[in-house]
Amino acid sequence: MQAAVAPGEPGDDLATTVAMTMRQMGVVGLPRNYEIFYEALSGSNPRLSLEVIELGNRPTQEQLDQLGRKYFAQNHNQSIVEQARNVIAQELEDIASLLRSERTHLERYGQILDQTSGGLNSREQISRELLQKVANAMSMATRSTIDHGQQVAETLHEKSAELESVKSKLEEYKRLADTDPLTLLWNRRAFDKEIAGIYNSEKGILFKALILADIDRFKAINDRYGHPVGDRILKTIADIFRTSVSESMFVARTGGEEFALIVDGISEQSTHEIANHIRLLIEQTRFGSSQAGAEYGPVTVSMGICMAAEGESADDLYAKADRALYRSKLDGRNRVTCHSELTARGGKSWMLYRKE
Ligand code: GH3
Ligand code: MG
Ligand code: MG
Repeated sequence: MQAAVAPGEPGDDLATTVAMTMRQMGVVGLPRNYEIFYEALSGSNPRLSLEVIELGNRPTQEQLDQLGRKYFAQNHNQSIVEQARNVIAQELEDIASLLRSERTHLERYGQILDQTSGGLNSREQISRELLQKVANAMSMATRSTIDHGQQVAETLHEKSAELESVKSKLEEYKRLADTDPLTLLWNRRAFDKEIAGIYNSEKGILFKALILADIDRFKAINDRYGHPVGDRILKTIADIFRTSVSESMFVARTGGEEFALIVDGISEQSTHEIANHIRLLIEQTRFGSSQAGAEYGPVTVSMGICMAAEGESADDLYAKADRALYRSKLDGRNRVTCHSELTARGGKSWMLYRKE
């Protein structure tokens, strides 16, 4: 097999620079740290490069992990899950050895009881002295067993607290893996799971609906005002989506400037009302920066709706809502179209839509 980067080629220099920079900055040579520095120093992600520079000399592992979660969420969560798994394995091993020692201790205690009772049975006449000896031996063994038991209970208590904290960390990372870092809405991964779940129950099929939304001419906004402004607009639109539906409804950013809502849509009409309400709120929002005294003009979204009952599967539901969305684009944007309208109108004119 041929090496991806032969020695002496530019990639090789980069690897050396990465290693040297990490050493100079006092960064531990973990694979996840290499990943950050490799990407930052290759220049392929200018924003990451800037953030790495801003960390200054001797960044903490927590700062690096924060960057990692932001830019390579998947891999970083994976490595953290790996660490947690190791901690759990170690804790369980400790608990098992603790219980083994407790068993040995109890067995020893049992032997002492057997011996002392054997000693008592073998004599018809029990002297006071012997009774005293037996009582002492039993009292010592009992005290030691109680002490040992108490230690075991305390250690188990500590271990269970440690396991609890690992569990809550894992839950937090699981949530991060499903969250879009820019808008803090659910991400595509979480959306895929949620939409698949609709078809697992009769109730889901009958009462759920999918709304897809895509910002109109967003590329032009980015080109005109720059990517950071585009990002701020995405965040504001995400907030509008989040705050205009009830908490039980599922809101995700499924791609660049695309959003999806899985709503409790009792009817197509009520689903249309939800979508249109959000569309109007976005249309009426003034996007600008009071600091920079800038106005970015109106921003609009096009939407497509499909009721779960109209879809045969999660993929089919998505495809149908997407067709309705593109019908909205074709009809002039800044509008909401239901999938049922496409069939009612006949033909497959949605296929004529082409991105300009
Ligand atoms: P249309 O009305 O047909 O949807 O036009 P459009 O320009 O919105 O569509 P197109 O798919 O051509 O462009 C989408 C743009 O969204 C391209 C890219 O610049 C921008 N975009 C995607 N993700 C991000 C992001 O995370 N931040 C910013 N600022 N822009 C993004
Ligand atoms: Mg798009
Ligand atoms: Mg768009």
